[in-house]
Amino acid sequence: MSDTHAPVQAAGRMLHPELAAASDESEVKNGRRLDHAEGTSHPIRPSSAPEPQPRGARIRGNHRISQSEAANRFIAAPQHEKMHDERLWDLRQKRDRVMHRIPEWEELRSLASAIKEHTLTHLDEYLDRFEANARTNGIHVHWARDGAEHNRIVHDILLDHGAASLIKSKSMLTEECGFRDYMASVGIKVIETDLGERIQQLDNEDPSHVVVPAVHKLRTDVAQVFAKTLGTDAGNSNVHYLAEAQREATRPLILEADAGMTGANFVVAETGTFVVCTNEGNADLSANVPKLHIASIGIEKIIPRLEHLAVFVRLLSRSALGSPMTQYTSHFRGPRAGGEMHVVLVDNGRSKRLGMEEFWTSLKCIRCGACMNTCPVYRRSGGLSYGATYSGPIGLIIDPTFNRHKYSALPFSSTLNGSCTNVCPVKINIHEQIAAWRKVMAEHHELPLIKKSAMKAAGALLARPTLYRAAIASADVALNVLPHFVIYNRLNAWGKHREVPHAPRQTFHAWYRNNRGTP
Ligand code: SF4
Repeated sequence: MSDTHAPVQAAGRMLHPELAAASDESEVKNGRRLDHAEGTSHPIRPSSAPEPQPRGARIRGNHRISQSEAANRFIAAPQHEKMHDERLWDLRQKRDRVMHRIPEWEELRSLASAIKEHTLTHLDEYLDRFEANARTNGIHVHWARDGAEHNRIVHDILLDHGAASLIKSKSMLTEECGFRDYMASVGIKVIETDLGERIQQLDNEDPSHVVVPAVHKLRTDVAQVFAKTLGTDAGNSNVHYLAEAQREATRPLILEADAGMTGANFVVAETGTFVVCTNEGNADLSANVPKLHIASIGIEKIIPRLEHLAVFVRLLSRSALGSPMTQYTSHFRGPRAGGEMHVVLVDNGRSKRLGMEEFWTSLKCIRCGACMNTCPVYRRSGGLSYGATYSGPIGLIIDPTFNRHKYSALPFSSTLNGSCTNVCPVKINIHEQIAAWRKVMAEHHELPLIKKSAMKAAGALLARPTLYRAAIASADVALNVLPHFVIYNRLNAWGKHREVPHAPRQTFHAWYRNNRGTP
């Protein structure tokens, strides 16, 4: 083998086997796909037994979700952690490459942000305009205050048509509404048509990412799920075999379904139309195979005019997957001949969020997932560790608006490095809003006792300069002389994954006093 192949081979060895097998060699050759030092710093030993999939956060009623507990379990599964980290970092890198090919990228971001802010501050007008135009197009328009009302409206529509089965494309809004559980409780069969979402449905799990719902699963996990639910060979994790088996099992259900449901990525007020972006064409099946099409849409999805769509379509897929365009960008204008189309416009906390001075711009989100792909905490802990509908940086802002106590620990699952803000195509100041939530949690006494006591002690120390200097000097001496086990033990959660840097021989304050006189 010539020397020119060595980097490719080395690169292949460093990647998780699933990614190495699926990788485009030309991308590996140019070296850019692998410049994620952290992701490649822990080579994993190949194992003959498949690693069991770590499950998500423990959810107990209204109890505070511990993201760190679930994250620890994810990190303890090295194959999953490595694959997840690398797969998402790969998406982030692809996003960077396509973004650099568009000189006006920053202008597009500013424009998208301005369009969204304008629309959100005139939301009532644009929603009314959409409703009027959609009705003119022959669409039935419904309004739902919350998830429960949304579910009842959809159920009533299905009852009116005697529908017992529904095929649907991926929709985070329906996850918010607990839609599948509700439908199961009233005896309506729901079949997800997006492959990742179908995998999650068969595994009885929520999506872990807004764009790639089963990204936390290894192929061997999918093989296990399909073996249990579809009767495939548990030992065969070939992607073509698994995808084909799923297609064979699901396609007849799609063809027989009584109704179809989609979400919408964008709703255009001036035309009374909506747009759904997918890469599998599954939304088109959901919308076009049955005669009844129901679209569940969050009220923040609206944009004023069709010309604005071009701005968002250019940003969405590039930010999400690093591809110039989603494979299918389908426009829906009204029911087809002999069919019926319903749109359910859902609030479910959005109006309340719009009134939150520090958090209302989170409604600009177009659910591209770029902030998740770049977040070091998300990449290493998996989306299900957040125990909420939305995970990653945007989830840390949205989830507490649904339940402040239950999600009070989430805003602390961030390094506040600002990378999420930098990649956001609609310029949401994500890391600043996360920091603002921390303040809100402290003001509402939602901090765990241990954090509260530590903050109190730190506050007392920082308020007394002499005491602070004495403490720092003693800590430096202690760090240099104490045995390792005294510093790194079960009580020191911080030290579980980190080493304290070597303490300097003297503090900066002491150095300054010795060299420059009294400060
Ligand atoms: S907050 Fe921004 S980066 Fe994150 S999903 Fe929403 S639009 Fe994408």
